[in-house]
Amino acid sequence: MADRGLLIVISGFAGSGKGTVVKQILADRPDRCSLSTSVTTRLPRPGEEEGVSYFFRTKEEFERMIRDDELIEYARYVSNYYGTPKAWVEQKMKEGVDVILEIEIQGAMNIKKMYPDAVLIFLMPPGADELKKRLVGRGTEDAATVRARLARACEEAEGIEKYDYLVVNDEVETCAGKIEMIADAERLKTGRQDQLIRRMRQGLEKFRA
Ligand code: 5GP
Repeated sequence: MADRGLLIVISGFAGSGKGTVVKQILADRPDRCSLSTSVTTRLPRPGEEEGVSYFFRTKEEFERMIRDDELIEYARYVSNYYGTPKAWVEQKMKEGVDVILEIEIQGAMNIKKMYPDAVLIFLMPPGADELKKRLVGRGTEDAATVRARLARACEEAEGIEKYDYLVVNDEVETCAGKIEMIADAERLKTGRQDQLIRRMRQGLEKFRA
């Protein structure tokens, strides 16, 4: 039986480059890592595809999913709902595949409560001004939304210490490499290797004095 995959939560301010870093990780480890597709009530941005970027749903449908316990966690973020589908994530972890959740801080905290061995990583841009530059530069939001997202970043910054790891995203490949190192180290934790430990202990029994 495959070891259970890791649940890796990656959060970071809007504009921290999470999406690009996650893409790099998936390209580096296509067989070992997968990204959960969230459900949201926000409208698709140009170029976003149903079932790829998100599952785009109405508020009513989202609330039905909450009632029917189809989400592991959900949160409201700048006046929209976002949530993580439960069945897919559980299945992938059972197959031994590491699952990445790219979610905001409230969701991350809920995941930690439900899955205490989840690995929580916070991604930061090199500085606050750089954050604004990236957010304005990507040109996908209007000025009011940019302001709301920067204001939200101030609140989110209060919670950084609740994460297990903090990684600065100054260069995509380096940043992705650091996250891959974290995943490798997590897999080597004694608590995740009980089968191996048990086997060794059994094998050693014959030498007992
Ligand atoms: P965006 O609208 O820019 O795609 O996402 C806004 C925020 O929602 C980002 O911080 C993103 O990581 C977060 N987010 C995306 N999916 C989920 C989810 O399933 N659950 C939670 N809690 N946050 C999510």
